[in-house]
Amino acid sequence: MIPQWVIEKKRDGGTLDEAEIRDFMAGFTEGTIPDYQMAALAMAIYFRGMTPEETAILTDAMMRSGDLVTFDAWPRPTADKHSTGGIGDKLSLMIAPLAASAGLAVPMISGRGLGITGGTLDKLEAIPGYDARLSIEAFKRVVAEVGCSIIGQTDRLAPADKKLYALRDVTGTVPNIPLITASIMSKKLAEGAETLVFDVKCGLAAFMQTPENARALAQSLLRVGRALGRKTGALITDMDQPLGRTAGNAVEVIEAITTLKGYGPEDTRQLTIELTAQMTVLGGVHADLETARCDLAQRLDDGRALDVFRRMVAAQGGDARVIDDMRRFPQPGVTVSVPAPASGTVSFVDAQQLGRIVLQLGGGRKAATDVIDPAAGIDRLVQAGEAVEEGQPLMRLLAKDAALAQPLVASAAAAVRLTREPVPERRLVLEQIME
Ligand code: URA
Repeated sequence: MIPQWVIEKKRDGGTLDEAEIRDFMAGFTEGTIPDYQMAALAMAIYFRGMTPEETAILTDAMMRSGDLVTFDAWPRPTADKHSTGGIGDKLSLMIAPLAASAGLAVPMISGRGLGITGGTLDKLEAIPGYDARLSIEAFKRVVAEVGCSIIGQTDRLAPADKKLYALRDVTGTVPNIPLITASIMSKKLAEGAETLVFDVKCGLAAFMQTPENARALAQSLLRVGRALGRKTGALITDMDQPLGRTAGNAVEVIEAITTLKGYGPEDTRQLTIELTAQMTVLGGVHADLETARCDLAQRLDDGRALDVFRRMVAAQGGDARVIDDMRRFPQPGVTVSVPAPASGTVSFVDAQQLGRIVLQLGGGRKAATDVIDPAAGIDRLVQAGEAVEEGQPLMRLLAKDAALAQPLVASAAAAVRLTREPVPERRLVLEQIME
């Protein structure tokens, strides 16, 4: 295989064959194909696209660039959920234990937050002692004993993606559906779950800003999952507005625990149940979605899902006492209320703007090497449809000190729009795709 011929073929709109894709990716992973040739191919793919077959081969090649976790002959069906990322998206924290309580095994490998999007790993690390860097052997042991485990990416899982993503990031080739598909799926497939459910976020604060693009990504993910032998489903969900009443790290874990206790915000609970229901139905634990929703709601209400969460935290070295005593979480230096500038009904809460505010409060990362403040973020956030009086708090800003929080009060208030008109109910699930 001559790398420049492969690049030229794609540049001119050709379809790459299996050997060309596999050899190119193997050379790139080993370092015999330099970054500039990989970047040129990524740009050719960006402009010319890839067929579903090419995308599946690229995904498979990237998945096989490192270790594969296997769950052969396991007593429970394995399943996982992946979200394309949003503001206030703490759903993994509830979905993993809820699905495990219903009989699935959930091996979940999650990422850190970057930019305005939070990461499950950063949230879990707000729990004192929680170890997200388990070896794959220890990870499998926790899944076997507890039913679920959530850990961070290891360097040995899909290393081709790690290298390629870093290149895409600096060559303008991130927003391309075949490349995004191969990136997400290579990691998820390497993790070994038989069933994969995707929460494809759609809206102003999401990667995919229009329903058409979100649908195209969802279909591409499902097609590749199917081609590589997995059961797959997807929900396209709204990400114009944040999920729940918190955004940050410790505050989101607190809200997740509240939801696992049966009384979290309605949007958070509803989406937790919907996504978990897809997993349990596809995984063969429940016969249909309606049965799944009823059973899962009970598991949230009677503490069975919370019990699995408690055991997972303890098994990974975390201080499970935080569940009963939230004061054990890292505490912010200051809490600043954001007053409503007028009376009215909340018509819209701008997730993108709040994501930027969380970042500036210290709760997110501008660069991958930044250290986050686990206590920083937003809580007690109002939601669309709620009435507020002038001066009443729209949210609280949590930060290390007032110098960080105070200058953000005006832009935080501007992120919440108020109206005198009736506000239509928010549609959380825009589309459901089950294969
Ligand atoms: N998330 C990933 O893991 N990869 C992408 O390319 C985009 C989002």
